[in-house]
Amino acid sequence: MTCREAIDVLDDYLESSLSPEVLEKIEAHLRACAPCRAYLATYERTAQLAAKVNRVEMPPEVKRRLRDFLRS
Ligand SMILES: [Zn+2]
Repeated sequence: MTCREAIDVLDDYLESSLSPEVLEKIEAHLRACAPCRAYLATYERTAQLAAKVNRVEMPPEVKRRLRDFLRS
């Protein structure tokens, strides 16, 4: 997976709506690619801000997945 492909599916990644194969690919890419991890962190902050504004929480599954990912 290239960075462009990873960023293309980031939205779906955060919504946990990726197929298992794509999920595996993006997680492997993110583990190997610091710029994409930084992008994801920025993207997540933006999503959280948007969620605050809209008073909509991020799904717990997404939060858990991101936490686990960032710890690994
Ligand atoms: Zn990348």
